[in-house]
Amino acid sequence: MGGKVLVINAGSSSMKWSLFSKNDFSIVASGIAERVGIEGSFLKINFEGSEIKKEIKLNDHKAAAIETLKLWQKHKIVKKINEVELIGFRVVHGGEYFNDSIKIDSKVIELIGECSKFAPLHNPGALQAINAMLDILPNAKMSATFDTAFHTTIPSINSQYGINREFAQKWGIKKYGMHGISHKFITLKLQEILNKNSVNFVNLHIGNGASLCAVKDSKSFDTSMGFTPLAGIMMGTRSGDIDPAIHEYATEVAGMSLKEFTNLLNKNSGLLGVSGISSDMRDLVKRYKENDENAIFTLNLYAQKIVDYLANYINKVGKKIDALVFTAGIGENSSFIRELVIEKLDLPNLNIELDQNKNNISPSEIKDYLLISSNNSQIPVYVIRTNEELLIAQDAVKLYE
Ligand code: AMP
Repeated sequence: MGGKVLVINAGSSSMKWSLFSKNDFSIVASGIAERVGIEGSFLKINFEGSEIKKEIKLNDHKAAAIETLKLWQKHKIVKKINEVELIGFRVVHGGEYFNDSIKIDSKVIELIGECSKFAPLHNPGALQAINAMLDILPNAKMSATFDTAFHTTIPSINSQYGINREFAQKWGIKKYGMHGISHKFITLKLQEILNKNSVNFVNLHIGNGASLCAVKDSKSFDTSMGFTPLAGIMMGTRSGDIDPAIHEYATEVAGMSLKEFTNLLNKNSGLLGVSGISSDMRDLVKRYKENDENAIFTLNLYAQKIVDYLANYINKVGKKIDALVFTAGIGENSSFIRELVIEKLDLPNLNIELDQNKNNISPSEIKDYLLISSNNSQIPVYVIRTNEELLIAQDAVKLYE
C-alpha cells in the first residue's frame, strides 16, 4: 500500500478526518470522532461504501486519535500506521501571521495558540489534535491550512471597520474572514475551468455557515464574514449582520447577559430562529412549496440578504468579472435557492439569467461543476463542488515535496 495523507478538522468536541492516497488524492476512508470529552462519545468511519460505528469513551483528542487508528487497523484501512506520511490540519484562525499553509513547528504551534483569542471555540481543538498526533505519529510530516489565510490579501479599505482606529489596532479588530480554504479551492477550480491564470468572480459559499467572497485577480478582495463567523449574510442558525447597538438593548431591556444574547445570535437565529421551523434548508424549501407563510418569508429574507451582498460584490469585482459561483451544501444542491437569489438581482444594464433546465439538474448528476446560466446571461453562473479536505491534503504534499 502507498503513502497516505491524513486531513484533520478538529473542533472543541469533535475530530473529523479524511484519509487520502498520496499518489492520486483518492479518498481511502473518512470519519469523525464526536462528543470528545463529553458523555456518549463515539467514532464513525466510512470505508468502502459501508459505515463503521463504535461507541467508546473518548476523554480527549488524543484518545480519539488512538482509538481511530486502532479501528483503521482492525478494518484493514491501513496495513501499518506509518503509511500515514503526511498530516494536514485545518486551523480556523491564523490572524495576521499566516497567509498560506505552513509546515508545523513549535513556533507555528505557539502562534496558533496566540490566535485562540480570535477563535476560542475552534483553535484550541486544532491545537489539541496537533499535539495528539505529534505524540502518536511523531514521524509524520505535519502542516496547517488556515481558514483566514486566503483573506489576508483583503485591502484595509475593505477589512477595516469604521470604529476608532487606535482601539481597533490595539486589539486586532478587523475583518479576518472565514471559509478561505473553500474560497481558494473554488478560485483554483475556476481558473482550471476557464483556462485562465487569474480570475475575477463572486463566490457564494452557502452551507450551514455561509459567506460570499469577491475575488479579484484570484485574490480575496472582500468577504462577508468578519472578525468572527457571525457577520455577513443570514445562515443556518447565525444571524449575520445586525446593528451592534442591539447588544446593549438586549442586555438592558430584555435582561439578557451579553453571553446569552451572543448565543442567541449564533445558535438560535438565522433560518432556524426566523422560521422557528428548522435550520435545514431542505425542510424549509419543502414547507415553502406547501405555501407555509413562515417558510416563504424566511427564505425570501434569506435570499435578500445574499443579494444585498452579491450586488455589492459584483460592483467590487468590477467590469472584468468572469463568473458567479454557487458552492457548499445549499449552493451545490438547492436549485430553488439559486433561482430565488438570481431572480432578486435587478442590476441596471446587467442581465444575469439562469437556464432553468440546467439549474434544475439533479445534484447527483453534477460531478465537479456545471454552468447553469442561459446564453443570454451577461455573467456566466456556475455550480462548483467545493472540497476543502482535498486542498488541505494537496497543500500538505506540496509543502514537503
Ligand atoms: P454544509 O454546511 O455545506 O454541509 O451545508 C449544509 C446545508 O446544505 C443544510 O442547510 C442542508 O439543508 C443543505 N442541503 C444539503 N442538501 C440539500 C438539498 N438537496 N437541497 C437543499 N439544501 C440542501
